[in-house]
Amino acid sequence: MTTRRLVLATRNAHKVTELRAILAETGLDVELVGADAYPQIPDVKETGVTFAENALLKARALAEGTGLPAVADDSGLCVDVLGGAPGIFSARWAGRHGDDPANLALLLAQLADIDTPHRAAHFACAAALALPDGTTRVAEAQLRGTLRHTPTGNGGFGYDPILQPEDDTRTCAELTPAEKNAISHRGKAFRTLAAHLPALLG
Ligand code: IMP
Repeated sequence: MTTRRLVLATRNAHKVTELRAILAETGLDVELVGADAYPQIPDVKETGVTFAENALLKARALAEGTGLPAVADDSGLCVDVLGGAPGIFSARWAGRHGDDPANLALLLAQLADIDTPHRAAHFACAAALALPDGTTRVAEAQLRGTLRHTPTGNGGFGYDPILQPEDDTRTCAELTPAEKNAISHRGKAFRTLAAHLPALLG
């Protein structure tokens, strides 16, 4: 079988490495490249109102632009007492896209008076695959937990220092990358999506 090239709709090298590790588990002969390899293709506007819509928008645009199978993900933190917010707005909750410390600080301030029994939340991820012929698949997964009052741990990114997964006493920022990958919303969604690849890529 010839090696198939798969493009991942992210310029984040960390995500490319993470997905490479997941694909390696499948034994598929696939070469994964990041969107950086195609600088002529502009980033799409995330105009969807769900994680799945935004992941599909990104995967479709890249598959159309490159003529190759493309994979994308969209993720965020959903807090029960906030009705699922920040949700798709997680990366820009405090106003500026990707300002992780400001997003975390604002969320903690908003939840300051909420006691632990009411601080349930989950990370959510939609992973999408789009083929140049228009075929698409989406897999979604969650990592449920409770929000701490104080950030703890130095690993991870984003809201990791305040989400304590169910069945653990540590926050996500205290887990090793392998431990987080095994239980995370992103790890689970991509493993489910990867299971579709053999049949779809031929
Ligand atoms: P994106 O899917 O890369 O756009 O991520 C959206 C935002 O959700 C990030 O900027 C983080 O704030 C948050 N987020 C998504 N996944 C995680 C995670 O695994 N840990 C911590 N924060 C996350």
